[in-house]
Amino acid sequence: MSKIIVLMGAPGAGKGTQARLLQERLHLPQISTGDIFRSLKGAQTPLAQEVREIMERGQLVPDELTIQLVRERTSKDDAQEGYILDGFPRTPAQAKSLEKLAGEQDKHIVAIQIEVPCDLLEKRMTGRRNCPVCNEIYNIYFKPPRHDNVCDFHPEAQLVHRGDDNLETVRKRLATYEQQTRPLLDYYASKNLLRVVDGNRKRESIYQDIAAVVRDEGEEVSAGVT
Ligand code: AMP
Repeated sequence: MSKIIVLMGAPGAGKGTQARLLQERLHLPQISTGDIFRSLKGAQTPLAQEVREIMERGQLVPDELTIQLVRERTSKDDAQEGYILDGFPRTPAQAKSLEKLAGEQDKHIVAIQIEVPCDLLEKRMTGRRNCPVCNEIYNIYFKPPRHDNVCDFHPEAQLVHRGDDNLETVRKRLATYEQQTRPLLDYYASKNLLRVVDGNRKRESIYQDIAAVVRDEGEEVSAGVT
């Protein structure tokens, strides 16, 4: 049975970085609701404007819209063999809709929490910079580029600082996470669907743990089927 790999954890825990590695190495698409909403950036529609304002406030986009976007994106051809969710689900309603979707798509959910001590999260986000060309993620404190503010792979590209990675919005996003998303960890744990990895290490070590969970889950599922 193909898998839906759900990366969970606070904003700044490293979900995006790990989702990119999983995508490259497992050849499954990374579906990031944050990226989908950020791609509306230039759009001049009332809906895009509303989404931008919600993101600037560090709040969550309404469930109905978010769920609909995920449903559409996951029905595309490239997601038929499985996919990686980064930043979804974030509310109980989204978690319920994902279960329904998994049933309809005949897929198995593997939820993996990337655990990082709270006191590191602010710096992880305020220090974050992205390459606008390849999307490589840097951090001015923990993983600086070789040359100031330019991508190691695209020296012509100035790195970008996300609009919602300023300290004020970061604090609101962390509060939103605590209130609305953290309870989902208990929910997945109670269904025995949650695996936890230590996210306070080098990205490759974290990746190896996540890849091992994904492999083991595959074996457990096939063992259950036979
Ligand atoms: P992220 O890139 O995952 O940190 O998401 C950036 C912002 O996009 C969040 O602070 C929310 O405003 C919005 N967003 C991303 N994913 C979701 C989601 N699953 N539900 C609601 N809002 C979301």
